[in-house]
Parts: sequence; C-alpha cells; structure tokens
Amino acid sequence: MSVIQDTIARINQLDMEQKEFQQAVTEVLETLEPTAQRHPEFVKAGIYDRIVEPERAVMFRVPWKEDNGQVHVNRGYRVQFNNAIGPFKGGLRFHPSVNLSIIKFLGFEQVFKNALTTLPMGGGKGGSDFDPKGKSDDEIMRFCQAFMRELFRHIGAETDVPAGDIGVGAREIGYLYGYYKKIRNEHTGVLTGKGLEYGGSLIRPEATGYGTAYFAAEMLATRGLDFKDKVVAISGAGNVAQYAVEKVTQLGARAVTVCDSSATVVDEQGISSEKCCFLMDLKNNRRGRIKEYAEKYDTPCFEGENVWDVIRKQGIKVDIALPCATQNEISRENAIALVENGCRCVAEGANMPSTPEAIKIFQESNILYGPGKAANAGGVATSGLEMSQNSLKMSWTREEVDQRLQIIMKSIHKSCLDAAEAYGRKGDYVVGANTAGFMKVAKAMMAYGLV
Ligand code: NDP
Repeated sequence: MSVIQDTIARINQLDMEQKEFQQAVTEVLETLEPTAQRHPEFVKAGIYDRIVEPERAVMFRVPWKEDNGQVHVNRGYRVQFNNAIGPFKGGLRFHPSVNLSIIKFLGFEQVFKNALTTLPMGGGKGGSDFDPKGKSDDEIMRFCQAFMRELFRHIGAETDVPAGDIGVGAREIGYLYGYYKKIRNEHTGVLTGKGLEYGGSLIRPEATGYGTAYFAAEMLATRGLDFKDKVVAISGAGNVAQYAVEKVTQLGARAVTVCDSSATVVDEQGISSEKCCFLMDLKNNRRGRIKEYAEKYDTPCFEGENVWDVIRKQGIKVDIALPCATQNEISRENAIALVENGCRCVAEGANMPSTPEAIKIFQESNILYGPGKAANAGGVATSGLEMSQNSLKMSWTREEVDQRLQIIMKSIHKSCLDAAEAYGRKGDYVVGANTAGFMKVAKAMMAYGLV
C-alpha cells in the first residue's frame, strides 16, 4: 500500500464515526499520490500523516438561557487544524447538524483553501450544534456571549481568527466580537466579517458569492463561454447564495432557483435585482422562510425538496450550477440529471456540496467542475484583506477590495490549472486545487522540522 493509502486507512479506522472528515481526507489525499512520488522527502518527514491531524481540537459546553428562563446546554467546538503558513483562520457554524466530524472536515478543507488564496492564513473551523432558527435576538446574544466565554481563551489576532459560516452572519459576529472586546479589553481584528463601523471590510459580505461567480467566469472563459444569457441554478438562500445571485445577474445571466432547508423556489423569469433585495430582506432581517418568495412573486415552490431534486424531477434546463447551501447536497442521480439537462459548469460556493459520486459524474462528463476550496475561497481571501486593513488601521474602498478579490480569484484559478498540468492532469481543478494548496503548506511544514 502507498503511504497515502496507509494514511487514509489509518484515519478511517481511528475516526470511524467521522464520515464527513473521512470523505474530505480521502478526496484530498487520493489526488496527492503524484506529490508523494515526486517528493520522497515529504514521505520521510511524515507530512501526509501530520497534515490530517489537527494541531488541536477543543470541545466545550455552552450553557445559556431561553427568554422564559429555561436553561440549555449546547456543544461548542474549535478545531485549529494547521498554522504552518499563518494564524489559524476559518468560520464558525451554528447549526443542529454540527459535530466534531463536520468541524474537522471543514477545518481540513480550510487549510488548502487558505493556502490557495496566496495570503498568510492557516486553517481552522469551529461552531456549535445550537439552532438559531426561531430564537429571539436576546437569545442569540446570550448564546453568542456564552460561546465566546470559552472561545476567547483559544483565539487572538495573531493566533486564530474566526469568521462566519452557516448560521453565523453579521448579527452573530457583532455579539461575538462585542463580548470578546469586553472581556479582553482590546480592540483587535480577532474576528472577521465585522460591521463597517467597527473594523469590517467593504465587500466582505459579498465576497464568497461574488468570488464564486468570478471563479466560474474564469472556468467558462477556458472554453470560450461566459455568463451572458445563461440559466444558472443556485442553491441556498443565505449569505453565499444571495451574492451569487446578485453577481451572476450583473454578469448578464438568469438565476432561476434558490432554496432553504424547507423548500425550493423556481423562478423561470430570473431573480432580478429587485427580487434579490426582497430575498435579502426576507432572510437577513425578517428571518422568514423561502416560500414567502414564492407567495410574493407567484412562482412554483417545492416543499421538502432541494434545488437539485427539483431540477431532476422537473427536467429544468440549466447551463451553470452554483451549489451554495451545504455539504453533500448533490447526489449522483442529481449530478446525472444536471449533465443531461445541459449543465456545462459547476462551481461550488458551499463546502463539499457534491458527493464523491456526483464529482465522478461531473468529471467523467468532461464538464467544468470547480471544487469549493478553490471556487469559494473569495470569502476567506477577503477576510484576509480585512485582517490586513485592521493591522494597517486603514480601510480600502469598495472598488479596491473588489479588484483585489478579482485578482485573487484569477490567481487561484491559474494556480489550479498550473498545478494540474504540472502533475499530468490538465484541466482537472480538483487535482490542481488540492496539489497547489498542499505544496505550499507541505513546504512550510518541512522548513519547521518536526514540530
Ligand atoms: P447561511 O447560513 O447564510 O445560509 C445557508 C443557506 O443554506 C440557508 O438558506 C439554509 O437554509 C440553507 N441550507 C442549509 N442546510 C440546508 C439543507 N440541508 N438543504 C437545503 N438548504 C439548506 O450560510 P452561508 O451562506 O454562509 O454558507 C453556505 C455554504 O457556503 C456553507 O457550506 C458554508 O460552509 C460555505 N461557505 C461560506 C462562506 C462565507 O463566507 N459565509 C465562505 C466559504 C464557504 P435555512 O435558512 O433553512 O437554514
């Protein structure tokens, strides 16, 4: 067995219950065989075994009170995966499905993604199995404060810089940062995604969705295509999905779907900028359900089904797919239906939204497939730009940040293609992203010796 297969087998045995983590490790390591052959020094230094183990993982209780005085306890996590190239960096997720496996898979992916951005950021991830849905503002605030009461001792502007993710948006970052500032008595860039009034960066809210569209545009250009007049399927209705809708519309495409965890809306006429404003208000301020969009604009709404199920069952033709909701949302059968319905490009705004079987279908069909760690890296890249602005005590204009974001997405796209070609898999964005991210981190780990 190769050293890579040994490492995968070891993780599968040691972390038997951690299915998502096993999936992420297998997906990355299987593409790294050629690096092990070309770099026997990595094998000798145990790099492959070391890179799949987090530096540390903390798990803690988060006790908090409902408005009616009822006490609840949730689990909190912070997995500091790898800080070879910079402080740990990665979001916090509040969702009932959160467990150690999910946080480890996200932290592991983050290591390679952050390396791809060209910025000095290591990888980490955290969160809680707390469900923000239906909670009052006061309950959210008390939960965030209880969470930070433990998290504060593990993070710092030069140590570990968390951000948002599913269930953690501007409101939660405000409460988390406010409490950190209070108990530490310091105003540093310890969280990103902050409000503009207290150290945030312009374009950070937009960055993941915009970046995914920029990355997809680069991919399309390799085949002489662009977004103009294309039909785009987008899943999710949160931060990433909203700005993906906005950007593809600006680029001349028609976004025809969005979903939340309860339903999918299909709007064949396209989610115009006016409709997108309604969606943002619905989700970010009124915190309502997606079916209200269907009621307002009189569009079909499919309860209990995700975007990809609906596309398959309704036979909807799409040119481009941007999954922006959650992990493993595209199954094999839905991938087959997408390809049969004319899809030519999939760029992942979410982390690991395609199952391994779906990825195989995309690659065998020779459509453009951009994995999340490359396609959605614009969010963390702009978080890196927020950190730079905080350090410099400056703020850049919207145009300046957007331009840097576009340059970074182009550079990630080029790194993926260059690495894929250098390792004999021309045009394979999966091999390219994994290899380019890995090489940077592995070389830094080699420089440090055995630490
Ligand atoms: P949000 O919480 O803002 O939005 C998530 C959206 O996805 C919500 O509309 C949610 O619906 C929906 N959703 C969640 N689970 C499901 C499900 N099982 N089926 C259908 N819909 C579902 O999160 P983000 O937009 O920030 O994150 C989305 C994805 O993008 C995640 O994978 C995240 O890790 C990734 N990502 C985010 C970045 C960022 O900057 N925010 C950066 C890079 C990646 P509901 O409202 O019902 O919960």
